[in-house]
Order: sequence, then structure tokens, then C-alpha cells
Amino acid sequence: MLFSPEILKIRDERMKPFIDVDEIWEIIHSAIPTKERVREIIAKSLDKNRLTLEETAILINAGDPELVEEIKEGAKTLKQKVYGERIVLFAPLYIGNYCINNCEYCGFKTSNKIIKRITLSREELIEQVKALEDSGHKRLILVYGEHPRYNAEFIAETVGIVYGVKSGHGEIRRVNINAAPLDIDGFRIVKNAKIGTYQIFQETYHQEIYSKVHQGGIKHNYEWRVTSLDRAQEAGIDDVGIGTLFGLYDWRFDVMGLVRHTNHFEAVYNVGPHTISFPRLQNASQLTIDQGYIVSDYDFTRLVAILRLSVPYTGLILTARESSAIRDEILQFGVSQIDGGTNIEMGGYSKHIDGERQDIDFEQFQINDNRSLNEIMEELIDHKYIPSFCTACYRLGRTGEHFMEFSVPGFIKRYCQPNALLTMAEYLEDYAPPETKIKGNQLLEEKLAEMGPGALKNKLIQKIQLIKEGKRDLYF
Ligand code: SAM
Ligand code: SF4
Repeated sequence: MLFSPEILKIRDERMKPFIDVDEIWEIIHSAIPTKERVREIIAKSLDKNRLTLEETAILINAGDPELVEEIKEGAKTLKQKVYGERIVLFAPLYIGNYCINNCEYCGFKTSNKIIKRITLSREELIEQVKALEDSGHKRLILVYGEHPRYNAEFIAETVGIVYGVKSGHGEIRRVNINAAPLDIDGFRIVKNAKIGTYQIFQETYHQEIYSKVHQGGIKHNYEWRVTSLDRAQEAGIDDVGIGTLFGLYDWRFDVMGLVRHTNHFEAVYNVGPHTISFPRLQNASQLTIDQGYIVSDYDFTRLVAILRLSVPYTGLILTARESSAIRDEILQFGVSQIDGGTNIEMGGYSKHIDGERQDIDFEQFQINDNRSLNEIMEELIDHKYIPSFCTACYRLGRTGEHFMEFSVPGFIKRYCQPNALLTMAEYLEDYAPPETKIKGNQLLEEKLAEMGPGALKNKLIQKIQLIKEGKRDLYF
């Protein structure tokens, strides 16, 4: 069941909305960004401490270009100090675009009569997954409109289908979900299908604007949405992703909303969200949104740097909504995941269900980075990032890996980096064109050379050799 006011009343009584609009604005308005204070706060984050709402507000108010530069430099230093060079790659896969909601900004809104509505059949889904596997993907996020046909059972069924598709050496090892909020029983059903992260974006934490842009449909109910991931936690899904759609309201408020949401999870469940996403409003079919809150590139890159410093141990996800130039800048701030080879046209990965053309009237919104997975891999390798398809922690039950990466000394060196190299080695063997393979193998050699001698290095060399001999799915 997607939504029931009865269930909201009976079962979710204790899940109180945690956003107080006036309080957040008051914190923003009273935050004074002196140079000394801004520097102290950056230093606190670099010392591996999360920031308070008040401290986040000071960074938000630090508009002096010199301080903005220092904030960005701080985010870069944090990335280098803590996370190293790994970037995890995934692809979004749209399962169905039927939708009963009327989100002003989205091409799938119910009032859009131009868009062609499709739900992938089992065969079409398998075809899409095969195409993604054949390009080298191992991690997907399945995306659904909000519609009674996309209930928990349906989501679980599609997850099962995806895990079952094998093409050559290809397989999907982690399936994340971006779908409508469910009730607790629904989240349980989806959890049992062995999903990775369940992502739900609040879009904006500001109730009034939220109601204005979500007229009608279930999504109109702010409370049902803002407490959705509490229900997920109740159902045992502690791997959740939050996000806001920047461009709906004042970015300063919504950055604070994300930090407040993070505080809420930490206070109530002892674990923050696994990831934060920061989609920025893009053009869409029949877009009717008020353009007053559009976020400039300058503010957008700045807000990502602030988020990095505020919640230094949470994964950050950057998508192909952004151009390659913006992606390149933001990658330096410690983004942990990006999508590659993205195609959000329904059925787009295997090209053209019913012979449809790629067109904004067939997509949810326009994307700005159309590079193939291999082009992204090559670009990452050229810039000395280590592209990773690692799913080891999740499959070994080591949940909260971003937190462990951040807080357990040596965790990245022992697990993340070797695993990233192993998954890159698999990609190079199975999917890379000759030129990428040469560059990738060079990077592999460089990274091995940087490792001190010892048992770990020997084991890693052995595993890479096994991959070259045809073994797959090796990890620490
Ligand atoms: N239907 C579900 C929902 O609304 O939560 C899940 C999928 S929705 C297709 C995924 C996300 O896309 C939304 O949460 C929203 O933040 C984002 N989105 C929608 N329209 C967009 C646009 N025009 N530009 C950028 N992102 C958009
Ligand atoms: Fe439907 Fe989600 Fe688009 Fe809103 S954002 S119209 S709920 S698909």
C-alpha cells in the first residue's frame, strides 16, 4: 500500500516532523561570518568533526569571495585527507514513469499529457539491465514514478529481476531505489528484496513552498514525505539517502534542512543518512516552475563544499544533471558517487522501445552530461581518480561504510582502495577499449607502487592476477 492516512495516524505517531522553518531562518539570520570564525569552523571539520547548524549557517553566510575560496579549499583538503582518489560509479534505470502526483518541476507529472507513459515489461527490463552490464555497470539505482502499480511488491519484484540478469561476466551487485515513500510494511517487503540504499528526496524542507509546488497527489502531504525515511528505519532499512532539489527554494535554507535531517537521524537512530544528493533543477517537458530560486553555478559549487564540511562522513552523490565542467569541479570536494553513461529515456540503454526517439518529451528532465561510461572512466583515470564499482561492504554486511571510511583509521587503505582497484581491473579486462585498458593498467601499477610492501599488497597482486586469469568478484 502506498499511502493510508490511518496508518500515518496509528503507526507513525512518534515520528514527528523535525523541521522548524522559523528556527532555521533565525539561525541563518543570526550567524556572523567573521574570518576567524569561518577559519575555525573549517579547521573543526578538517579535524574530522561534524558541524552544528549554527556553524553551517556561518559558512552559508560567508559570501566574501576570499572566504568562499577558503571553504572550497577546505572541502578539497578534507577529500584528500580522508577519502583519497576513489569515485564510485552507478547508473540510474527508470522502471516506470506513470505518476499520480503533479510536481511542478517534473516531466512525469500527471498533468503532462504529452509525455509517453511506459512501465518496462519484464523482458524490457532484462534488456536494459543486459545493456548496462555489457557496458560494465555493477551498481544501479532503480527509479519509479509514484503510482499504485509501483507498490512495494512491484518494486521488490523488479529488484529481484535485476539481480537475476547475468550477461557474460556482467552482473548487478547492488540495487538502490529512488521511489515514493512506503508504509512500514512496504519498506519491509523492499528490504527483503535485498536493496542497497532507499533514496527519497524531500525536494524542499520549506513547508509552504513544498505545498505550492506539489499540488494534489500523495506527494502533497509534507508530513508523509518528511517522515518517510523514519518508517524505512522502523522497517530495518538503515541505509537511506536524503536530498533536496535545488532551485525550488532558497538554497541556504535547504542546505540547513539537509543538515537538520541528518541530525535527526543521528539523534533518533544513531546513524546518519548513507548519502546526500543535491539535484539541481533542470529543464523538463511542460516545466512550469517559478524561476526565482534558480541556483547559479557559483552558489551551487559553494553549497556542495559547505555540505562536505558540515557532514564530513556522509556520502555525496553527484548526477549527470550537471555538465562535465561542474562535475569536474565538484569531484574535488569529496563527492563519493557519480553516474556514468546515463540515459534517462525510458528504455534508453538498449535504445528505443517502440522505436521512440530521445527527446525531452520522453524524459523526466534534461541531463547535461551525456558521456558514455567508458568516456567517464577514461576521464577519471586521466585525472588519477580510481573509478570503483565496489560493493564489498554491503555484501559482507559492513553497513555504514562511509562512516567507517571516515572514522576507522586505515579502513580506506585496507579495504576501499584495494577493492576499488580490483573492480577497476575487472572493468579493464571485460569492457575497456584497448586505449583505456593501457591507461587503466598504468594507473593500477602506479597505485601498487605507492603501497608499502606487505601482506596486503601481496594479496592484492594475487587477486589482480586471478582476475586476469578469468576469476571475478574478488574483494577484501
Ligand atoms: N517519483 C519519486 C519521487 O518523486 O520521489 C522518485 C523518482 S523522481 C523520478 C527522482 C527525483 O528527480 C525527484 O525526487 C526530484 O528531486 C528529481 N527531479 C524531478 N524533476 C526534476 C528536474 N526538472 N530537474 C532535476 N531533478 C528533477
Ligand atoms: Fe512523479 Fe516523482 Fe516526478 Fe513528482 S518527481 S511527478 S512524484 S515522478
